[in-house]
Amino acid sequence: MTLNPNKVGITIYCASCGRPKVPIGRSVSIYMSNSICARDSCYGYSEEPYAGSLWPGESEADFGYPVSDHGTAIVQAAKEETTT
Ligand SMILES: [Zn+2]
Repeated sequence: MTLNPNKVGITIYCASCGRPKVPIGRSVSIYMSNSICARDSCYGYSEEPYAGSLWPGESEADFGYPVSDHGTAIVQAAKEETTT
């Protein structure tokens, strides 16, 4: 099992309500629940663009499990340049 530290979550905005979608299966504090789109509060949640499993900025390696490509982007690790 290879977890990609460069595969990170991005914010997915709901096409229906315009709010950012909570990642699938992740819990949200009650204080956030009015400002995010969730499955039980918006019918647009389960439609395109699909939410992923990662919070924005969280990597697959941080999460600890392989995730689908929905709601993710591949970022390039900073190049370690050797100046000699
Ligand atoms: Zn929504």
